[in-house]
Amino acid sequence: MTQRRAEIGVIGGSGFYAFLDDTTEISVHTPYGPPSAPVTLGVVADRQVAFLPRHGLRHEFPPHRVNYRANLWALRELGVRRVFGPCAAGSLRPEIEPGDFVVLDQLVDRTWGRTDTYVDGPVAGHVTFADPYCPELGQVVLRAGGAMTDLTVHEGGTVVVIQGPRFSTRAESAWYRSAGWGVINMTQYPEAYLARELGMCYAGVALITDYDTGLEGVEGIEPVTMEQVFKMLARAVSRTRDLLFAAIPDVPEAAGCHCRDALSSGPLGPDYA
Ligand SMILES: [Zn+2]
Repeated sequence: MTQRRAEIGVIGGSGFYAFLDDTTEISVHTPYGPPSAPVTLGVVADRQVAFLPRHGLRHEFPPHRVNYRANLWALRELGVRRVFGPCAAGSLRPEIEPGDFVVLDQLVDRTWGRTDTYVDGPVAGHVTFADPYCPELGQVVLRAGGAMTDLTVHEGGTVVVIQGPRFSTRAESAWYRSAGWGVINMTQYPEAYLARELGMCYAGVALITDYDTGLEGVEGIEPVTMEQVFKMLARAVSRTRDLLFAAIPDVPEAAGCHCRDALSSGPLGPDYA
């Protein structure tokens, strides 16, 4: 185990390649290969924070090529036990508007072929994932967002995670909407689940960039394009930073949630510190 260097982790999404000023950079080796980039370490209101850009510093890893296992392992190795996972997402509902944030509370996995577990034997564990997100960290983000006048943060929402890199078809999008799901994204799985296997808290914070394939019956809303997503992200990344900077000081020093209990059936075992 490396010396504990951070307690809170942030995994930045598309367009979000730096978080902290005045950082030190550290390359972490993991049994699963290299993470997406060196981890930067810094301080937010006396809390030690580690930042990792999910897609690499030049956005070289598309969602299905991100080494999620190495990313989460690297953060844990540095001491991180609580992770914020901001991510770009499309909206499936008219009331969730581009520019809004959604604190996710449920997840539907539509990905395939991704390495999504640390449990590779010889011991087989089955980790509870009924509630994929840490409720305590979610509340921290909601409180921070509630105190900021210039942004809307929605409480709860189901993310459907698609494989990508393509966007969804109109039929798929209509299907997801009809199921009542709120937003669509390409990276929350397996990221949120791997955090759980390691007994870490994980908050999924979706930043809405677009209305997926458009909204039926609403004129002037075109299907999502990459240009549209990145244009929105360029404006929104600083708002995401502001939201997380406001949230981090409010993270309780001692966790009041049960995310850590997953260790008992995960790869590390219940006694892992
Ligand atoms: Zn938790």
